[in-house]
Amino acid sequence: MYGNFGEFLASELASIREQGLHKDERVLEGPQGAEVTVGGRRVLNFCANNYLGLASDPRVVAAAKRTLDEWGYGLSSVRFICGTTSLHKQLEKEMSEFLGTEDTILYAACFDANGGVFEPLVDQDSAIITDQLNHASIIDGVRLAKAQRFIFQHADMESLEAQLKDAAACRFRLIVTDGVFSMDGDLANLEGICDLAEKYDAMVMVDDSHATGFVGARGRGTPERSGVMGRVDIVTTTLGKALGGALGGCTSGRKEIVEWLRQKSRPYLFSNSLPMMVCGASLEVLRILREDPEPLQRLAANQVQLRCGLRELGFDVDEGEHPIIPVHFRRHDNDAMLAQGMSRDLLAEGIYCIGFSFPVVPRGQARIRLQVSAAHSAEQVQRCLDAFAVVGRKHGAI
Ligand SMILES: *Cc1c(COP(=O)(O)O)cnc(C)c1O
Repeated sequence: MYGNFGEFLASELASIREQGLHKDERVLEGPQGAEVTVGGRRVLNFCANNYLGLASDPRVVAAAKRTLDEWGYGLSSVRFICGTTSLHKQLEKEMSEFLGTEDTILYAACFDANGGVFEPLVDQDSAIITDQLNHASIIDGVRLAKAQRFIFQHADMESLEAQLKDAAACRFRLIVTDGVFSMDGDLANLEGICDLAEKYDAMVMVDDSHATGFVGARGRGTPERSGVMGRVDIVTTTLGKALGGALGGCTSGRKEIVEWLRQKSRPYLFSNSLPMMVCGASLEVLRILREDPEPLQRLAANQVQLRCGLRELGFDVDEGEHPIIPVHFRRHDNDAMLAQGMSRDLLAEGIYCIGFSFPVVPRGQARIRLQVSAAHSAEQVQRCLDAFAVVGRKHGAI
């Protein structure tokens, strides 16, 4: 009996639309890339997680096709019944080698990896100490666990230390952080976190979804960048961003932890195996990362060009090193209107980017979040800067 529920939802939907909180989806009419087709127009894309430009890379597409021909489309099984192929084992082995860990367990998504990591590992006698700004999937995963929860102020080592002291009576302690926080592109202080973890006898887990493949000298992620590979006990990450962008995730780390997850982790036990074509394409991505330093180098150069260019134009852009580049409007009272209005006009200028305002970010912190990719050419980055100059002046933002 659907009854009045439809009317109730319709009025709720109207209400979020009025508040400007309704998320409308733009429809791409072709493949993901530096340039995409939206509404019949070619525009430059500055809002994808396609950091290494591999989402439509011909080598990756060819590997997916080859695997499809050799292995078929799907497995119709979870891993422990008849859903484990030699490709899954190979990808788990190569992910471990890439991340510098002992073992890896694949999931359908990093959301599932985070959803299935806490509940089997930490019970009511143990503590999870989690950064206030961690990703939604960590928050949900933590909710599913019976462990005691301790939340520390974002990136604040004093606050973390205080929470570790409060958790001292617990049997085991697990500190959890994003490696890179997606709204600002800021990196976790993993050295500080690992030092405190040692001092207070805690384990460390890092969700490196916005880092695996391109942060660190060889793209191994934030533990490599911070010099703490081997001191992080658990890494979760996604295949759905830099590593080809299709879907898939994993938990990687100490071998006993991974073996335990294979026995107990519910999204692994009760959800289908990753499609073989994703495994085959991901193996090709890892091969490219081993043998071809160009995407990493181009991404770094593009990041510097865009960030420095925006700062030179007079935009409110923080220093940083990550390809997430937020353009703030902190000097303006009408920050939300600027973020929305400018992103609309930028699209008209052929630049696709997204404005974020309250409640996605705190009030007064509206921004346009740019994400640059190795797929962009220097000329395309310059076109983005030119459009920002024109639109920024029109709106009085610079
Ligand atoms: C994107 C993201 C996820 C989700 O990854 P999926 O594989 O798309 O489910 C999890 N954690 C963080 C930090 C992310 O940025």
